[in-house]
Amino acid sequence: MSQQSQEQYQFIAQILSKHTGESTQIDDFQFFYGGNFNLAVRLRVKNTEYFIKWTQGDHQGLFEAEAKNLQMIHATGAIQVPQVLGVGQLDEKEYLMMECIESADKHANYWHDFGEKLAHLHKNTSSLGHGLDYTNFIGAATQENSWKKDGVEFFIENRLNKQVDRALYDRKITPELAENFQRLYEKLPDLLPHEAPALIHGDLWSGNAMVNEQGLVTLVDPCCYYGLREAELAFTTMFGGFDTKFYEAYHATFPIEKGFHERIPLYNLYPLMVHVNLFGEGYLPAVNKILASY
Ligand code: ADP
Repeated sequence: MSQQSQEQYQFIAQILSKHTGESTQIDDFQFFYGGNFNLAVRLRVKNTEYFIKWTQGDHQGLFEAEAKNLQMIHATGAIQVPQVLGVGQLDEKEYLMMECIESADKHANYWHDFGEKLAHLHKNTSSLGHGLDYTNFIGAATQENSWKKDGVEFFIENRLNKQVDRALYDRKITPELAENFQRLYEKLPDLLPHEAPALIHGDLWSGNAMVNEQGLVTLVDPCCYYGLREAELAFTTMFGGFDTKFYEAYHATFPIEKGFHERIPLYNLYPLMVHVNLFGEGYLPAVNKILASY
């Protein structure tokens, strides 16, 4: 084992003994370099598999928020998420230890079941409005969740405008583009439905929907908040991979207002701007195209 691997092995062993209470012999482990800034490992101890991820940089509170989000979804009973086994800090790194999800082939009913379950998740609402009690992260980007009564106002102020301000500050966009966003904000209250706040996963692309041992869905990597549920559905279309049966089952369980397809680009301005800020200007033509059509 190289020195770096040995250090990582020690690091993982310490987390394990802290949360399982045993000085453990790791029987097998496999590194995952899934995320863009986290490290992760899947490991087996006495026939039990665990999944541990940890930060390499300084995203303070990232995994604490993720653990709370996993527990929030779990508490609804609507859809499966991995059980949180431990969260904390060690050697100045933050970590999250979870139940490891075993995969199998998709069940024939996978997409229908997924659509229904997501609709049930979205039926969870909050009397406080749109938002959440704490900040969380979409990838490495901060999501500031201060409560707003109206969902469209929340989408503009806490989602779009935060990313626009950051991109402007980092000179990734021009002041003219920021003004185009301002003009769009004036129109958005008439373009988007003012729905009740819905508990959403927050980063629902196909990579965060795993197939579990039963061949059914398990969601990972949430950045939840109470918000516009259509924003979640729109996001599923951004990188594709979701079957039409998923949307049909969702709609049958919790109907979506007419005209959703036309609203998709508006919602996806948010993940696109997150991508501009995290990964660069390559995503700007798509942003410009959407803004130009309004
Ligand atoms: P990041 O926060 O770095 O983006 P993710 O939580 O998305 O990491 O995990 C990266 C990949 O690791 C996922 O796409 C999935 O394949 C796998 N994964 C995540 N959580 C688990 C888990 N609890 N059990 C098994 N595999 C997992």
